[in-house]
Amino acid sequence: MLDTASLTELLAQPQKIVITTHHKPDGDAMGSSLGLYNYLIQQGHHVKVITPTDYPEFLSWMPGNGEVIIYTGNVKEANALIADAKIIFCLDFNALGRINQMGEQVRKSDALKIMIDHHLEPEDFDDYRYWDINACATAQLIYSFIAVELNNKKLINKDVASCLYAGIMTDSASFSLPNTTSSVHRIIADLIDAGAVNYRIYDLVYNNSSENRLRLLGTCLSDRLEVLYEYNTAIIAVTKHDLEKFEVNTGDTEGIVNYALSIAGIKLAVFIVERTDMVKLSLRSKGEFPANDICKKYFNGGGHRNAAGGISSASLEDTINQIKLILPEYKKLLIQ
Ligand code: 5GP
Ligand code: MN
Repeated sequence: MLDTASLTELLAQPQKIVITTHHKPDGDAMGSSLGLYNYLIQQGHHVKVITPTDYPEFLSWMPGNGEVIIYTGNVKEANALIADAKIIFCLDFNALGRINQMGEQVRKSDALKIMIDHHLEPEDFDDYRYWDINACATAQLIYSFIAVELNNKKLINKDVASCLYAGIMTDSASFSLPNTTSSVHRIIADLIDAGAVNYRIYDLVYNNSSENRLRLLGTCLSDRLEVLYEYNTAIIAVTKHDLEKFEVNTGDTEGIVNYALSIAGIKLAVFIVERTDMVKLSLRSKGEFPANDICKKYFNGGGHRNAAGGISSASLEDTINQIKLILPEYKKLLIQ
C-alpha cells in the first residue's frame, strides 16, 4: 500500500493518469470523475476519464465532459491508455466487476490503483485507498481528498466545485438522506463559495427531462405501481414494451423509484425494469431498513442501506413474485 506522502510526491510531477468509474455512471460517478479531472489538469497531468458505458444526457453539462472516453466503442484506444497509465483512479466503485470488461484491463495494468469510494466490502485490487462508507457521496470524498489529504483546497475552482456539487446533490437524494451531515453541508457551502451555482446545477440535472420520460413516469404511477400495505412496500415494474414505447434512453428511469417511496408509510420501494438481457432492480428504503441486504442475498447485487441494486435472470413476472415471497422474511423490520 502506498502512503499519502508518496502519493503526494508522485503527483508533484506530471503523470499519465486514467480516471474511471462504475458502469452506467450516475451523478456521483461523473461528478467525482470530472471533479477530480478538473483538479488534476491544473497541475499539468495528462488525464483521461474513461467510463465503461454511456451515461445520461442530463450529466453532459459537466466541465470536461467533451473529453470523456466511453469504453464501449473505443476499446482499443482505452486499453492503450489503461496500459500506459502511471496512476488509475477508481472512483465510486470498489470491485472490478463493476466496470465490466474494463476490469481485467485495469487489473493487469502496472499502474498504481487508487480507490476512492463509499460502498461496502471493497475488493483488494488497489494500492491506495481513500474509503469511507459513511460518506454520502464519493464526490464528498474527492473534496476531502483534495482539500485535506493533498492540502490543495485552493485548486477547487468553479469547474471542480460544480462537478462535486452535482455528485453530492444526486447521491444524497438532494440532501435528504441521513448521511447528509452538517459536515456535508459545510462542504456544500465551500463548493458554492468556490463557484458552484447550486440552483443552476439543480436545474440542469433535474429539470432536463424529455417529454417521453415524463410520460413514462405517468404510466409507472398510474399502471405499474403496486402498493403492498401489509409490508409497507411499493413496487413499480416496467416492461420491455414500455421501454420501447417511450423510447427510453440511459438515465430516463432514474429517480422513478423515489415516487414509490414518497407514499406515506412506505419503507421499501422496489423499481424493476425488464431490460433486453436481464431484469434490473433498484431498491430504496427509509431509516434502518437494509435494502442492500435483499440485493446481496437474492439479486447478485449490493449497495447502501437506503439505496441498492441488483439483477435477476428470471422473467419480470417471476422477479416480482420473488420479491413478494421475500417480503415476509423482512416483515418485522418493515412494519415496526
Ligand atoms: P441504482 O438503483 O441507482 O441503480 O443503484 C443504487 C446503488 O445500488 C448504487 O449506488 C450502487 O451502490 C448499488 N448497486 C446498483 N446496482 C448494483 C449491482 O448490480 N451490484 C452492486 N454490487 N451494487 C449495485
Ligand atoms: Mn456514489
